[in-house]
Amino acid sequence: MRCLICGVWNLNGLICKKCMPTLSLGKRLVDGVSVYSFYAFSEIEFLLHFKYQPIGSRIMTVLARWASLYFSQNFSFPHGLVGVGIDDRIKNGYSHTGIILHQFKRCGIQPIYGELKAKNPVSYAGKSLQYRQANPKGFQTQLVSRDVVVMDDVITTGVSLQEAIGLLRSKNNRVILALTLCDARR
Ligand SMILES: [Zn+2]
Repeated sequence: MRCLICGVWNLNGLICKKCMPTLSLGKRLVDGVSVYSFYAFSEIEFLLHFKYQPIGSRIMTVLARWASLYFSQNFSFPHGLVGVGIDDRIKNGYSHTGIILHQFKRCGIQPIYGELKAKNPVSYAGKSLQYRQANPKGFQTQLVSRDVVVMDDVITTGVSLQEAIGLLRSKNNRVILALTLCDARR
C-alpha cells in the first residue's frame, strides 16, 4: 500500500519505515505518578489529525504497537497490574484508549476495557488550564484495591489524568504509573 505520509509504495503497511515517527521516552510527574510518553507531539501531530476519521484506529494501532514493543524491551512489570484507559469509550467507531490498552497487553498489563468513562461530556481541546480545572470530567470507575496503570493517547495539562488518579486512589487503588503515547509539551 501507499505510505500515508510520503505516498511511496511500501510493504511496511500504513506508514513506511522512513516516515515512522521517532520513538523517544519522556517522563513527567502528575500527583507523584510517573507519566511516560513515547513520542514528541511534533513527531505525531500530523498523524493525530486522523484521530476522528475511520483510518484513525489503524494509525493509533501502529503508534501504540511501536510504543508497547519499545516499552516491553526496557521495562518489566510484576504480575497483577491492570490497565485502564482515560474515557475508554467508542467514538467515531473505535476507542482510542482501548487500542492502546490492547497493545500494552504485551507488557504484562491486563486491560480492563470501558473504565473511567466521563459523566460530564466536556471537551478540553483548545481550553485553558483554568477552564479544565473548573470543569471536571466526572470519571467513574468500578475498580477497587487494584494496582493500576492509567493510559491515554495525549497528555497536555495533565488535568484529566490528575482527576483519574484522584478517583482511583479514593477507591483504594494504587496508581503505579501512567502511559501516554505523546506529551504535548515536548
Ligand atoms: Zn513514507
